[in-house]
Amino acid sequence: FPVENIRNFSIVAHVDHGKSTLADRLLELTGTIDKTKNNKQVLDKLQVERERGITVKAQTASLFHNCEGKQYLLNLIDTPGHVDFSYEVSRSLSACQGVLLVVDANEGIQAQTVANFFLAFEAQLSVIPVINKIDLKNADPERVENQIEKVFDIPSDECIKISAKLGTNVESVLQAVIERIPPPKVHRKNPLRALVFDSTFDQYRGVIANVALFDGVVSKGDKIVSAHTQKTYEVNEVGVLNPNEQPTHKLYAGQVGYLIAGMKNVTEAQIGDTLYLHKQPVEPLPGFKSAKPMVFAGMYPIDQSEYNNLKSAIEKLTLNDSSVTVHRDSSLALGAGWRLGFLGLLHMEVFNQRLEQEYNASVILTTPTVPYKAVLSSSKLIKARRAVQKNMIFIDQNRVMLKYLFPLNEIVVDFYDSLKSLSSGYASFDYEDAGYQTAELVKMDILLNGNTVEELVTVVHKDKAHSIGKAICERLKDSLPRQLFEIAIQAAIGSKIIARETVKAYRKNVLAKCYGGDITRKMKLLKRQAEGKKKLRKIGNVEVPKDAFIKVLKTQ
Ligand code: GDP
Ligand code: MG
Repeated sequence: FPVENIRNFSIVAHVDHGKSTLADRLLELTGTIDKTKNNKQVLDKLQVERERGITVKAQTASLFHNCEGKQYLLNLIDTPGHVDFSYEVSRSLSACQGVLLVVDANEGIQAQTVANFFLAFEAQLSVIPVINKIDLKNADPERVENQIEKVFDIPSDECIKISAKLGTNVESVLQAVIERIPPPKVHRKNPLRALVFDSTFDQYRGVIANVALFDGVVSKGDKIVSAHTQKTYEVNEVGVLNPNEQPTHKLYAGQVGYLIAGMKNVTEAQIGDTLYLHKQPVEPLPGFKSAKPMVFAGMYPIDQSEYNNLKSAIEKLTLNDSSVTVHRDSSLALGAGWRLGFLGLLHMEVFNQRLEQEYNASVILTTPTVPYKAVLSSSKLIKARRAVQKNMIFIDQNRVMLKYLFPLNEIVVDFYDSLKSLSSGYASFDYEDAGYQTAELVKMDILLNGNTVEELVTVVHKDKAHSIGKAICERLKDSLPRQLFEIAIQAAIGSKIIARETVKAYRKNVLAKCYGGDITRKMKLLKRQAEGKKKLRKIGNVEVPKDAFIKVLKTQ
């Protein structure tokens, strides 16, 4: 396939602006999939994507298209829109020369439209603005054109107006891809240089690496080396994604496809790695900036006997989602487990759901926290406001873009939901890391009859300590069983108690109900009590069932 007839592009947009629907139409129009009424976001293959109706993994498809007597190979990468998955977007862009920037004709430019535009702009890609959903009653494509011109400095006559749902004007999108996006700059005569931009683990075939070839050719039977591990493999299969895997004899520079080479271990095909031919070493391609986790949570098997299964499930899933960081951790109450770092809350939920659905693992996930750096000096006395306005840009008469500096802690949990409900759904939001700042934070202990519960120690902002402490005490009160004595549940900062709940003493014993009578029932009750004890943890004189920790720690 001549390089000048190849185009590699991504579809990027704010959530729900129609990326996956446009991908469906492009697949149909090029005959890659049959045209039926049932083609709904066909590239969203994961169960979690279908259930939530969002894309979380970038997906690749190779389309063949005839235009003015020439055949073109168009490699399309559909990407997620949600802020938590922008890491997927920036990785996908490294395999592309252009993007379709899709904007909803009714909603106009939103937070992730801006974020994605700048990702593409910084990567020096051609940007084709596509105004979608022109069929909607409230569509106002002219207003959106003006926004695009004003915010991105792209002349409004470059916008393509379409309805991805109805298929209106989608051919012009293909036309623009061919005319406005340059072919990849590659050298087929040079030795192989292939970038691993994604990889998945298949139980039977091992690691399947998605690769973009920058130089050279790779064929079945070739011996290849991973620049990262320096291990050598024999290529068992190469092919294109159509959108399902379709083996081919070779992959050439400029192409995007997949490669299977007997890598059995999940650490062997790291995303960002460069593959080259044995005895023909090359300078590795620039990898990817490693993702920076923003939200941390503990993950534990529900039963410790499941530890090894869960370990292997987490390893396999992190191969496919390299933005998750994993560190071993353990908790007195929950046993051996891990501390995982995620890019955001949705990312954490999706990872958890994928573990359950794709690996059949069920886990305990503790309340997420954000990273802090502690400096032990009096500089914490510096008064810091919780949010500082940095910048304000009017997109048009109805829309304004505000930039604020926020403590991450304030935005990870429910900020997005509050923002949506306050603005009746009109506001959208995106964030990037602005570094660490000093703040008045305090360490809060939770005490049971005066003894600290290690699992529940948290760092909170001084002004919120009281309400958070009170909430934890209340939750603990609801989940602690009564015991033979009164239990004081307290939240404390240093020696100062800031919240308290009491669990009253309990007088009956388990056998009280079956005086005399039925011996088997008596034995059953005693056995159950003994089993229950195994799952107890003693803090001072207070017995805390594992359940209670889970209820207090678990995300609601
Ligand atoms: P993505 O999150 O950007 O991938 O968006 P999807 O492709 O999943 O589409 C989000 C929603 O918008 C779905 O309910 C689509 O049916 C709908 N949608 C997409 N394109 C159009 C369009 O051109 N017109 C209308 N009316 N709805 C559309
Ligand atoms: Mg999508």
